[in-house]
Amino acid sequence: NGSVRGPHVAMLATPGMGHLIPLAELAKRLASRHGATATLITFASTASATQRAFLASLPPAVSSLSLPPVDLSDLPRGAAIETLMSEECARSVPALTSILLDLKRSTGGRLAAFVADLFGADSLDAARAAGVRRRCIFFPTNLHALTLILHLPELDSSVPCEFRDLPEPLRLPGCVPIPGPDILMPLQDKSDPCYRWMVHHGEKYRDAEAILVNSFDAVEPGPAKILRQPADHRPAVYPIGPLIHADGRRDDKDALCLEWLDRQPARSVIFVSFGSGGALPTEQMRELALGLELSGQRFLWVVRSPSDEGAVNDNYYDAESKKDPFTYLPEGFVDRITASGVGLVVPSWAPQTKVLAHAATGGFLTHCGWNSVLESLVYGVPMVAWPLYAEQKQNAVMLSDGVGAALRVPESKGREKIAATVREVMQGEGKGAAVRAKVAELQKAAAEGLRDGGAAAAALAEVVEGWTTTGGQELEED
Ligand code: UDP
Repeated sequence: NGSVRGPHVAMLATPGMGHLIPLAELAKRLASRHGATATLITFASTASATQRAFLASLPPAVSSLSLPPVDLSDLPRGAAIETLMSEECARSVPALTSILLDLKRSTGGRLAAFVADLFGADSLDAARAAGVRRRCIFFPTNLHALTLILHLPELDSSVPCEFRDLPEPLRLPGCVPIPGPDILMPLQDKSDPCYRWMVHHGEKYRDAEAILVNSFDAVEPGPAKILRQPADHRPAVYPIGPLIHADGRRDDKDALCLEWLDRQPARSVIFVSFGSGGALPTEQMRELALGLELSGQRFLWVVRSPSDEGAVNDNYYDAESKKDPFTYLPEGFVDRITASGVGLVVPSWAPQTKVLAHAATGGFLTHCGWNSVLESLVYGVPMVAWPLYAEQKQNAVMLSDGVGAALRVPESKGREKIAATVREVMQGEGKGAAVRAKVAELQKAAAEGLRDGGAAAAALAEVVEGWTTTGGQELEED
C-alpha cells in the first residue's frame, strides 16, 4: 500500500467533471488495492474552481498536473464539446509526449501504463512515442455506448441516412434496441465535425491494449456477455464498475442540503439534478417547478440558469451558473416551497453522492449522465429519466426499456406528466414498484462485484497483473 515500488500510471482526463471524477476513482482504487501511484493529467481549458478543489482533495498517491494551453481559436464558434475535447487532445500530443517522458524519468522506470478516457484516444500516440507499453482506454460510460462506438466505423458505411431518420431502432449485438433519435447526440448530424471525430475514436480505440469500462454486468447483461468474450477485431473489454466518488465527510458547504434532508422522513425526497453541465430551456424549467409541486412529493432541486441563450450543455466547462438561476423560476415558487417546507432549491451544485446516500432520499430525477446513474444504483435510488445530451437518451432507453431501473418522463414534458412520473417512481404500485425492486437488486449486484473476488475487482486485478508482470522489464527497452 503506497509502496514506491508499485507501478505508476499516467492518466489523461478530457474536460468535464463527469470524466475526471470516475478516472480519479480508478486512480484511487489502483492505489488502495494494487499499491500503485498515479498522475492525473488534465487540460488547461478546464481549470475551474470546482475541478481545482476536487484535485486538491485526492490522496497523496494520486497527483495531478495540467497540460499547457493549446490554441483552439480557429475552431468555429458553437463547435460541439466533443469536437473541442477531441481537438484539444489531438493538439496536445507533443506536450503530452514530453510530460510522459519526464514522468518515465522521475518515477525511475515505474511508469507501467497510460490510461486515456473516452475522448482521449489520440493521446495513445503520445504514450507510444514516449515508449509507455501498456496503453488503455478508460470508458466512463457504459457497454451500450462502447458497443456503438466500436461499431461506428462499420455503421458509417452501412447506415446511409442520419440516425434520427432510421425507420427502425438500431440493433447492436446484445444491446437494447435504440430508436434513431435517442442515439448518441454527437452522431445525430453527419455533417458536423464531431460525427467524424466519433468515427475516428471508434477506429483509434483499436490501438489500445484494453478498454476498462465503468459498468457492471447486471445493469446491461446483454452487451456484457458479448464484450467479455475475447475478439480479434477489438481490445479486451473489462467491466470494472461501478466506481463512484463516495465521500462520506460532511463539509460546511454541504450543510444546507444535508441538514434539510436530516429533517425529512425516510425515502420521502426526490433529488433533481442534471449533472455537471445540464440546463433546461426556461419553459421546461417552469413546467418542472410546477410539476414537482403538483407531485405532492418532497424535493431537493439543483437549479441552473436556463439553456435558452446557449447550448443545452452551456455550463459544461465550468459547473457554476453564470447568473442567479432562481430568477427564472415561476413567480412565488421559492416562497411557496420555503413556507410549506416541501422543497429546497440550491443553485448550481449539490453534494450529489451524499444526497443520494442520505436515508431521506427516495428518488432521483436525473439527466442520466452515467456517473449519476451509477451513483443512484450504488445507493439504491430509483430513477426518473430526463435525458438531455451526449449519450443520455440512449442511457434512458436502456434503463427504462432494458433493465427497468427508471421511468422516463414523456417527451411533452408537461407538468402533469412530470408529476405523474415522479409520483409513480416514489410511491406507485405498478411500474414504480417494479423499478424500486429492480434498483434494490442492482444495488446488491454492484456491491458484490466490487468485493474481493467479485467480477469487477477480478477484472481490474487482471488488467493490473498484465501491467506489472511484463510491463517493467520491457519498458526500459524502448
Ligand atoms: N455532481 C455533483 N453535484 C452536482 C452535479 C453533479 O456532485 O450538483 C457530480 C455527480 O455526482 C457526478 C458528476 O458530477 O459524479 C456528473 O457526472 P454525470 O456523468 O452524471 O454527468 P455529466 O456531468 O457528465 O453530464
